[in-house]
Amino acid sequence: MSNLIPVLGNGHGGMIGGVYQTKGKRFTFEDGTTIYEGEYNRAIKARVMEQLTAKGIPFYDLVPEQKDIHMSTRISRADYLYKKSKGRTFLIDIHSNAGKGTGCETWICWKSSSKTKTLANWTEALFLKHFPESKFRGVKRKNFDILALTNNPAIILELFFMDNEQECKKYLLTSEGRDRAAAYVVDIIENFIKYHS
Ligand SMILES: [Zn+2]
Repeated sequence: MSNLIPVLGNGHGGMIGGVYQTKGKRFTFEDGTTIYEGEYNRAIKARVMEQLTAKGIPFYDLVPEQKDIHMSTRISRADYLYKKSKGRTFLIDIHSNAGKGTGCETWICWKSSSKTKTLANWTEALFLKHFPESKFRGVKRKNFDILALTNNPAIILELFFMDNEQECKKYLLTSEGRDRAAAYVVDIIENFIKYHS
């Protein structure tokens, strides 16, 4: 049997000519710094793709555009890849949280397959190896469209809080932090693929 193939999503739009493509999904700190979720999600995803390429692990980029691609298009793309690969793809959608909390969490839908649950379990099992100074907030359930309406095993990763200044400036806005986040995602992918091969 061939290996499973990750499909990487970044949530939200990116930047076109310096203009952020998504309403909301941004935060301005007291010092005037504004951060854009769709920008650093893409930066982390780009690092994940680089690391996977270096390891010779194939993947698909769900949203290569900077444009904010409609959710129904994202889902039909993911399902096209799932069908084309004869059910060998799985989806990881990269986001970060808001609400001034700390740490990371994973979302799955209520009717998750056992593969989705295994994928989510790896996000929990590997977290402290990569971020021993932080905390894993749990595997949570909600029927987000990207999780509930796709045929792929699918998770949303909420990597840290964009409105927690300390966390944001440590993980989301630094090259080192983005590399660490990407290494965590790649470790999840490698373990999940290995588990199912
Ligand atoms: Zn998001």
